[in-house]
Amino acid sequence: MKVVQIKCPRCQQPINSKVKDLAFYCSHCRTMHVRDGGVNVIDFDIAEFNPGAQQDRVYMPFWRLFTNFNINQSKSAGGAIYKLGKFLGGGSNSGNVFIYIPAWETNVSEFKHWAIGLTEAQPMYSLRNDFNNIERTPTVVTREEATQMADFVIVTMEAEKPGTLQYLDYSLNVQDTRLVYMPYVRGQNGFAPGL
Ligand SMILES: [Zn+2]
Repeated sequence: MKVVQIKCPRCQQPINSKVKDLAFYCSHCRTMHVRDGGVNVIDFDIAEFNPGAQQDRVYMPFWRLFTNFNINQSKSAGGAIYKLGKFLGGGSNSGNVFIYIPAWETNVSEFKHWAIGLTEAQPMYSLRNDFNNIERTPTVVTREEATQMADFVIVTMEAEKPGTLQYLDYSLNVQDTRLVYMPYVRGQNGFAPGL
């Protein structure tokens, strides 16, 4: 595997990293930056593991998009819109929704599974300061790509219940992006949540 050495844009400390990871973490000053054309220091969270999750820990990166959502008009067989209605609550037509975009290399079905899983069941987590040498899966999706996928996640989520959604006219604005490292443990059937 090819390793490159680059410098932290904040403290100039050298960082060794695998080239395929867009996100670089400086353990000296705890800065995360991405190299996706430019060099950009970003906001990020490292979620704490459940103390019970001891074995085979791994961090998976998600872009968490803080969005403002407005439904202009909708029509569905069941009356109310299915998932978004729950987020927005009380018959409201607008509100804020966190959308989680898997940032590692996935295929379409995995992408849907992970994106919808976390977006539907918004995780609660406490923060930690450092990765503490736990492996992290490389980030390959840029912030811009993640922002472009927000619509795909919303529409896929609403279309999950076949035949329900007939018409949805909405606007979605991404107000903030953050790279969130979520804890998982490797098991026989793939990854299990480590929260
Ligand atoms: Zn640094």
